Amino acid sequence: MVLTIIVLFLFVILAIGCALVVFGTFRKNRWGVNTAQLTCPNCGNHLSHVRAPKSMDQILWGGATCSRCGTEVDKWGRTVNRSVPFS
Ligand SMILES: [Zn+2]
Repeated sequence: MVLTIIVLFLFVILAIGCALVVFGTFRKNRWGVNTAQLTCPNCGNHLSHVRAPKSMDQILWGGATCSRCGTEVDKWGRTVNRSVPFS
């Protein structure tokens, strides 16, 4: 009985996680998954799939820094605006 509750609990957590990723992919928020090639919105440089994270945000949520002009982009290829927190 206790094992059933634990398994059910883990399943609910997993289901919520999957729902967040699917929803995030459609809404293009942090939880989503983007497998497409990123292009720098500033200079058009193609950003490598193999990335070296430059900030905590990039480690946790993905994104890259353009090697040519230094523009920070999120995993969806949008410019990251550091002056507006929680956007
Ligand atoms: Zn660039």
